[in-house]
Amino acid sequence: MSDRYQSLLLFGPPGVGKGTQGKLLGSIPGFVHLATGDIFRALDKNSELGQQFMAYSSRGELVPDELTIKVWRNHVEHLMNDGCFDPERDVLVLDGIPRSLNQAKTIGEHIDVLAVIHLECPDINEMITRMKRRAEQQGRHDDADENVVRKRFEVYKDETAPVLSCYDASLVTKINPIGTPAEVLMNILKVVVPIYSKNFANPLA
Ligand code: ADP
Repeated sequence: MSDRYQSLLLFGPPGVGKGTQGKLLGSIPGFVHLATGDIFRALDKNSELGQQFMAYSSRGELVPDELTIKVWRNHVEHLMNDGCFDPERDVLVLDGIPRSLNQAKTIGEHIDVLAVIHLECPDINEMITRMKRRAEQQGRHDDADENVVRKRFEVYKDETAPVLSCYDASLVTKINPIGTPAEVLMNILKVVVPIYSKNFANPLA
């Protein structure tokens, strides 16, 4: 077995539903959801790292790669130490990473990508509407200002979308993100369940 963590990537622009689907997948035994945005938001806002995150995210910019990978690695180690992630039993569901070509290269030393779920955004206005709703519900500072949201789409187009070219086309499946959470989940499961079963034993058996 490879010493890299077997992983599924949830890929797509801001607001497309990666977090919603990641959480749903993460509730299934054998699937461990890890969202870099959530990790950053959980940082103490008064810590140096927390302040750095706020500075970048409130401008709609990415946190620098080196810092992001460091935070990601730390988090994975914590999950393993706490018994929440066992690479022999669990597939990692990565949401929000890699987000740049450099991150894809660095994280490639640590993960083995089994599949990329590309939630493709058909309509940027639908995404912006969703994010405004999310700003009201969750109070996310980076969702509240439309200029910051538009900047995040630009960053996605310029820095994140090229990451898809790092993976063989046979690994990438496009999924329509419009529909009920259950419908979108069903379409994702059709892709990932056979892949999970091929690579892992029943985690509850
Ligand atoms: P969304 O996908 O809706 O834009 P996230 O919750 O995934 O939101 O991320 C929020 C912010 O956290 C990003 O705008 C960025 O500043 C930072 N961030 C999250 N993941 C990464 C990453 N892999 N690299 C750099 N910055 C990141």
